[in-house]
Amino acid sequence: MLAEIVAIGDELVTGERLDTNSQWLARRMGELGVRALFHTTVGDDMEANQAVLVAASQRTDVVVITGGLGPTADDLTREAVALAFAAPLERDEQVLASIRELFRRRGREMPERNAVQADFPKSARVVPNPHGSAPGFWLEVPRPRLAACHVIALPGVPAEMKQMWEESVGPQLAALLGESRQLIRHKTLHCFGAGESDVESMLPDLIRRGRDPVVGITASRATITLRVTARGRDDSECEARIAPVVQTIRACLGSLVFGEDGERLEQVVVRQLMEQGRTLAVYDAVSSGRILQWLRDADPTGVVFVGGTLLSHAHGATGEPGASATEASEEPEAGDALRLASECRSRFGTDWGLALRVRHSTSPSADGAEEWIELALTDGITQVIESQRFAAHPDVLLPRAAKQGLDLIRRIVRPSIADATPSRVV
Ligand code: ATP
Repeated sequence: MLAEIVAIGDELVTGERLDTNSQWLARRMGELGVRALFHTTVGDDMEANQAVLVAASQRTDVVVITGGLGPTADDLTREAVALAFAAPLERDEQVLASIRELFRRRGREMPERNAVQADFPKSARVVPNPHGSAPGFWLEVPRPRLAACHVIALPGVPAEMKQMWEESVGPQLAALLGESRQLIRHKTLHCFGAGESDVESMLPDLIRRGRDPVVGITASRATITLRVTARGRDDSECEARIAPVVQTIRACLGSLVFGEDGERLEQVVVRQLMEQGRTLAVYDAVSSGRILQWLRDADPTGVVFVGGTLLSHAHGATGEPGASATEASEEPEAGDALRLASECRSRFGTDWGLALRVRHSTSPSADGAEEWIELALTDGITQVIESQRFAAHPDVLLPRAAKQGLDLIRRIVRPSIADATPSRVV
């Protein structure tokens, strides 16, 4: 069963408000096995609304509309549905009485304008709205040579829309799908340490259109996410189809995969350190405190992440907390990051010390002096230094640098290699 979600409202198309309803509905539909193939957002314009609704009903089996059910002149949904599907509006006296009652309970007289909220397209079923004055409706629109299209209109207020979906629309849709119902389930795997196309090329033809289960790949600030989607009659059938694909991905990508289903690098790092009963301090002169904040969020009581030092790039380049900008222009020693990681470790009395700093290259490239991010991690025995070119938009670069620091800890502090001999990786 295919679906289209239609979000109606000028505030959505002008960018004043983000259409979160469609995102929420698409997920809920997916859980039922209904595939949302189109999301359409349309302003408060009668002709445009009708055109959108007619097109949606021709190309999908379920059309879920949100918004435009209010009592004011710019709320067009009822009328647009009535005109689009030749189902003239009829007043439901019972609903009208319940709207009046709702106002009375709130200590107010119902404004006459609100009566239109009891108007529904001919032969539509009412979808009750327990907490609002705008009930929804469900209209079955006959189609030549096709089963009827289900057109469902819900209010725009997210809380009301969600409650109506959970209590009425979702269960009715599930019942409608009956035996033919196919659930859709996802599993996500998160990777760090390689680019999107590198990750794709390491997988054996998994990310191919039309493949089943479907494997999708997305990148967000250097985290690559693989999403495996399977359909099945129930959870266990979906899981059985997803499991071998996940196994293949893990076998191909090895330690690039750091987590599943929304897990974050800092959570993995905190868990690893906790399992080993070890503590960490961080010197951050690159990520503007992101790494410190993320670690604190993942370990609010400071069981493993004891604390850290935050410096600006310029001050961090000298490695001296409190150094002036003039001093910062002096060329620092390569390997300063290791000294900073050691000092940080001693200062906070932790097992591990991590340092992130910016290093200016001694051999400037044709387009100017090069900047590098230098990362060092030590526990007094193991010493690791890594460096990377510092070149990208700050919105991407700073979180990426923070993730690089976290990923370094993840790779080095893993139980299997925690006892590795001292190493130096540049
Ligand atoms: P009401 O009778 O309460 O006015 P309605 O169906 O007419 O309900 P709208 O007036 O379109 O709904 O929107 C009500 C509120 O919900 C507004 O604050 C609007 O910005 C918000 N809203 C509408 N559509 C969406 C959407 N797609 N995503 C998130 N918020 C939305």
